[in-house]
Amino acid sequence: MKVLKFGGTSVGTAQRMKDVAKLITAEHRNIIVLSAMSGTTNSLVEISDYLYKKNPDGANEVINRLAQKYYAHIEELFETAEYKQEAHELITTHFNYIRSFTKDLFTLFEEKVVLAQGELISTGMVNLYLNEQGIKSVLLPALEYMRTDKNAEPDPIYIKEKLTKLVDENKDADIYITQGYICRNAYGEIDNLQRGGSDYTASLIGAALNADEIQIWTDIDGMHNNDPRIVDKTSPVRNLHFEEAAELAYFGAKILHPTCILPAKIHSIPVRLLNTMQPDAPGTLISNKLEKGKIKAVAAKDNIVSIKVKSGRMLLATGFLRKVFEIFEDHKTPIDMVTTSEVGVSVTIDNRKHLEEIVDDLKKYGTVMVDENLVIICVVGDLEWDNVGFEARIIYALKDIPVRMISYGGSNYNVSLLVKASDKQRALQALSTHLFNN
Ligand code: ADP
Ligand code: ASP
Ligand code: MG
Repeated sequence: MKVLKFGGTSVGTAQRMKDVAKLITAEHRNIIVLSAMSGTTNSLVEISDYLYKKNPDGANEVINRLAQKYYAHIEELFETAEYKQEAHELITTHFNYIRSFTKDLFTLFEEKVVLAQGELISTGMVNLYLNEQGIKSVLLPALEYMRTDKNAEPDPIYIKEKLTKLVDENKDADIYITQGYICRNAYGEIDNLQRGGSDYTASLIGAALNADEIQIWTDIDGMHNNDPRIVDKTSPVRNLHFEEAAELAYFGAKILHPTCILPAKIHSIPVRLLNTMQPDAPGTLISNKLEKGKIKAVAAKDNIVSIKVKSGRMLLATGFLRKVFEIFEDHKTPIDMVTTSEVGVSVTIDNRKHLEEIVDDLKKYGTVMVDENLVIICVVGDLEWDNVGFEARIIYALKDIPVRMISYGGSNYNVSLLVKASDKQRALQALSTHLFNN
């Protein structure tokens, strides 16, 4: 059994849904995870924003616009009057439900319910379409098996138990359709796995059912060696190790949600990145095979703040780093990069919510300096330390760009460099030119 996940653009129009239906029915008994149609979750966020601001008219305008789009989609998608009618009822029910939130108090709880409607609608539409085509497709409701615990982490035991039961109850189905992104939390309330989280749904399902493969179908031919939105002449990377893919996803390669790799890695389930618009292209295979001696790809993570603590007291002292790190832990702020010298330490964070308190607390231990508007550039590949010359090539590529921090040796798979946001494009392009396009 395989898990196939289709992102927003892959189900973004009626025609795309028809194309996806063809792809997923080529094999039987796979699990299909769908995102909301592209743009929908953003519209649901916009609706929520109006409701937080107590502007029901603004919300209703967006709701009506979105609903009209859906009525047009179903006209195009379905052939028979009977299924058009059923799909019409599906859309009307969901939009009336969203409208019901414009009349009352709006909190985080209601927002999560509104955000969940996109995936509920897209899966309902595709499931009906498959039924219209005579395919025995069954909906597995994510809200009945996808669940997070008190730490907002997925609960693998619960997921495995409930999902296995649901699949067993529907053994005669040709195909299973389910919602990405949405879940319930430890209190049974509707919640989600964060924006872009449908990739995570797919790998959690893959792990729960011990799938043969997890496929992430999107709008590009696999993981490229640099960000194709910013850099010219990027090309697909055919093979990645789990660790390499995890570093790239964490450090900004948008094609994969950062959390998606871990469940697949733990269970050694290969992940394949594929292109819905070009289904025959080879894409990228992520597995536990490492290609020796190769730099694979570059990614960048935005909105980084660096904090330097300089202190004479660090000299020959023990426990200095612990005290510094504890301050970040106290303020629930993860650290991304760390560099140290004999008289100071620099770290980076991407969550500036508690920046002021952190700086305040750090002042007990030394002089604190903060730099903002930075990006981490992450170069990924087989960067084991006895591969001579790899770091030199990376640094040489950036010879004309000011670099605030460099981190190497933390893993065998990456070198991270901190540069100004205004130098991001130039840095990424220079790395592509020197590392891949020579
Ligand atoms: P989906 O809606 O299918 O989840 P996403 O928009 O989340 O798709 O991810 C696909 C997009 O990721 C691509 O269209 C591409 O612009 C962007 N992207 C950023 N970095 C990379 C990369 N290194 N390789 C491939 N795509 C990337
Ligand atoms: N629809 C959600 C989003 O836009 C989840 C996903 O697409 O992965 O973030
Ligand atoms: Mg995505």
